[in-house]
Amino acid sequence: MWLTNAAVLDVRSGTVTRDASVEVVDGNIASIERGRSGGSGDIDLAGRYLLPGLVSVHTHLSVLYPFSATDETEPSWVTVLRALGRAQDALQAGITTLRCVHEQNRADLLLRHAHSQGWVRVPRILGAGRAISTTGGHGHGMATSYADGPDEFLKAARTEFSFGADHIKIFITGGIADAGESLGAQMTVAEIEATVRAAVEHSSYVVAHAGSSAAIREALGAGVRSFEHAYELDDDTAGAIKAQGAFLTPTLCVTRCPDWMADHDFTSEQIARAMEVGPRHLASIRAAVAAGVPLVNGTDYPPGEPIEDTVVAVRELEFMVEAGLTPLQALQGATCTAAALIRREHQLGAVEPGLVADLIAVPGDPTQDIAALRDIEFVMSGGDVIRDDITVAA
Ligand SMILES: [Zn+2]
Repeated sequence: MWLTNAAVLDVRSGTVTRDASVEVVDGNIASIERGRSGGSGDIDLAGRYLLPGLVSVHTHLSVLYPFSATDETEPSWVTVLRALGRAQDALQAGITTLRCVHEQNRADLLLRHAHSQGWVRVPRILGAGRAISTTGGHGHGMATSYADGPDEFLKAARTEFSFGADHIKIFITGGIADAGESLGAQMTVAEIEATVRAAVEHSSYVVAHAGSSAAIREALGAGVRSFEHAYELDDDTAGAIKAQGAFLTPTLCVTRCPDWMADHDFTSEQIARAMEVGPRHLASIRAAVAAGVPLVNGTDYPPGEPIEDTVVAVRELEFMVEAGLTPLQALQGATCTAAALIRREHQLGAVEPGLVADLIAVPGDPTQDIAALRDIEFVMSGGDVIRDDITVAA
């Protein structure tokens, strides 16, 4: 099959090749040619910008709001059905790859299996299974795995890998969800090192919920590769993340969307706390931008959910531009840079021969205005057309 009459966007350089056609064979991009006219079975993209499907790297498909609503005894099938709807929404919205960073009952790994069997149409999923919390620490009460001391963290991490986890999620500090939480460190260096050890055994890496600079510096020393939130980040620590080749997922939407939180059963206290952190959070991400830290797109909230006339993942990209990224850099954070973080750059994150045919199309140029992603009209996942509003309109 050919996708003809496209303006193919190279997300690495920002260059656009107009009047291009992309050949899709067995779910992969086989070739790209100029000026080919369409035949039967081809899809005419009518000049739309064609870019890689979006990658969202901080997702919880199974979460309940407020978090206190979590029932740790919930049967897996209930969790999986809740997660399935959100995964389908994400795919419709053009998010073709999800990195999950804690799911109750390992719903991510169950959905990944269902997808591999062809039972459900959802994004490509890379999962952490259950995150690992310290007793009483952040994540406690949300059906995470509990561990204290290096030996227990080593075993808990190995356990998630034994269930098929792609990476491990830990909480090195508190967060902003609950009253009385602080952003201080909640794991010892030995516990973090033990977790990283298990990840190295499985050629994988560790993702850390991280509120503050001191804890991030400790975790960098222990070998953590992926940092999440960074509500309080100073210039030196931002420079250290960059120097180590680690990545940061800002999740800016969690401190700037009070209406969405109110609509999703967050308490007024939780909303007030999130908004109070907002200005510091934005300043922290600006420090990361200034230091050249690779920033990637993740939302904490289900990325395909409606918000402010778009979906959460696109709103997050707009926030990343507000924090100082160019539109192209923000787009890279949802494509090639995100693919590098999840170690799938050989497979995902660009429109190039040899890569998987995960593709989206929009009428406007997102490197000029990231809000062009509000109008995704075409979604292809692994060579399957998920959505084609262009042909329908024609
Ligand atoms: Zn999270």
